[in-house]
Amino acid sequence: MIKATVVLERRVQRGANGFSGEFGHLPVDPAGPRCNCGNGGCLQALVGQTALLERARRAGVGLGLRDGLAELIDAAEGGERAVLTILEEAGEPLGRSVAGLVNVLAIKAIKVIGESHVRWPFLGPAFTAAAVAGTIEPLRDLEITVSPWRDTEHARGAACLLLARSGAITGP
Ligand SMILES: [Zn+2]
Repeated sequence: MIKATVVLERRVQRGANGFSGEFGHLPVDPAGPRCNCGNGGCLQALVGQTALLERARRAGVGLGLRDGLAELIDAAEGGERAVLTILEEAGEPLGRSVAGLVNVLAIKAIKVIGESHVRWPFLGPAFTAAAVAGTIEPLRDLEITVSPWRDTEHARGAACLLLARSGAITGP
């Protein structure tokens, strides 16, 4: 699952029916693999965790019974070339897709956060290069930061939603 939350003028944009943020279903490659939404070539079908693990298995990377992502990162940290290539290649379509968001919404800053931030050391350089290359010149001074995931973020987000619905705040 790849989500994106857009904050414009300090307000979280929730879209019709609160359904905004399904960044993983951005149509990237019509010839790409089938996504769990039924469409072909969605971003998450190309670079989501399930897609990366599947590519690693097809490349012959031995993933055991532990959490696949943790094993994938262990292999990358151990310098396993096939895994490094898979992660590096994932950065490009992700960064290019973010550039599209930046160009449409004139976004000034991107914050990468989530349980998968552990992939960042491996896909970050390709992500950043593609994001900058795909961004129009007036927006190219894009600020990109990465934050580790903490379980308290779920509670913080839920609290912000409740406060926003009550009118106590205008958004998290
Ligand atoms: Zn999809």
